[in-house]
Amino acid sequence: MINIDYKKIVENLDSVVIVVDYDNKIVYANRYFCSLFNTNCEMLAGKSLYDFLPEHADTVLLKDYTYKITKFDDEFYSYYYLTIVDSQMEKVYSDFISTVSHELRTPLTSIRGFADTMLMSFEKLDKQQIQKFLTIIKEQSNRLIKLVENLLSISRIQVQQSNLVIKSINPKSQIEQVIDVIKNQYPSHPIELSCADDVPNILADENKFQQIMINLLDNAAKYSYDKGSVRVSITNSAKENFVSIKVEDHGVGIEPQNMSRIFEKFTRIENHLTRKTQGSGLGLYIVKNLIEKMNGKICVESSTVLPNSGSVFEVLLPAVSYTSGSEKALEDK
Ligand code: ADP
Repeated sequence: MINIDYKKIVENLDSVVIVVDYDNKIVYANRYFCSLFNTNCEMLAGKSLYDFLPEHADTVLLKDYTYKITKFDDEFYSYYYLTIVDSQMEKVYSDFISTVSHELRTPLTSIRGFADTMLMSFEKLDKQQIQKFLTIIKEQSNRLIKLVENLLSISRIQVQQSNLVIKSINPKSQIEQVIDVIKNQYPSHPIELSCADDVPNILADENKFQQIMINLLDNAAKYSYDKGSVRVSITNSAKENFVSIKVEDHGVGIEPQNMSRIFEKFTRIENHLTRKTQGSGLGLYIVKNLIEKMNGKICVESSTVLPNSGSVFEVLLPAVSYTSGSEKALEDK
């Protein structure tokens, strides 16, 4: 008779296997499960299954993959088997390709159109028209650069390699630069900046901080109606050793049930303005990721009760405190 080592087979399966007792305490989990949750298999015994999986769910999203949960019981134990549902991933990728293609094609078409017009009718155009066309070409190129930067950030986040250069930076002067860029793009939106007197510098990566602020200010203007004002305020946070940066708009707002979804990648929430505006659904995912890499936090308050209730995105980033040694710790991240 052949002696088959079933445990070895289960241990090396390319799917998750978990066995729990009547109390839903884990008695066995295979290697795939442990690497998925970054945990040591020996430490699992006695832990509740629901520390890892949602109760009564047929599927679960883990590290970008949707897993189908299959369960069967015997007299003593319940056996859980998790396999990747490919079709979900394919849908995410096909949505991604169509969003990105659209996001690339629109500004490229506009750049080519205005360049063509200028080349063909250069002699007939006056100075003002040339200036207008060149401004559009520049704005559309900026949009392409923002998209490419976001796509690069996504791939770096995916391979967990963001290469942050953390140093002490002055949030006010960085935000002033960003406001100049956004004002150029949205000339009809008044943008105000206020900064409390005693605000210290923050510990952050300069480029990434600008990328965060560009995404937040771009959204604040994009999801507000014409002339909707945007306010940025920098203060000391109630949370000790943190600086608070609030971006407040009076736009369409976000419904409570969509609050957690806005930070998911490739997710655009339908509102009166998403249909009219362009976006890849990547901005807030990247923003949250970068802020957390810099040991910060982002929260949002929003309402759709009144037409212009608007949203407030608050970013908390560590303040420079020369006694804490935190600069060094972050540099190593
Ligand atoms: P994008 O703007 O490219 O769609 P984001 O990740 O930046 O992607 O935002 C995700 C969604 O969150 C947007 O589609 C929009 O519905 C919503 N959102 C983001 N910022 C705001 C805001 N300031 N006001 C209202 N809705 C917002």
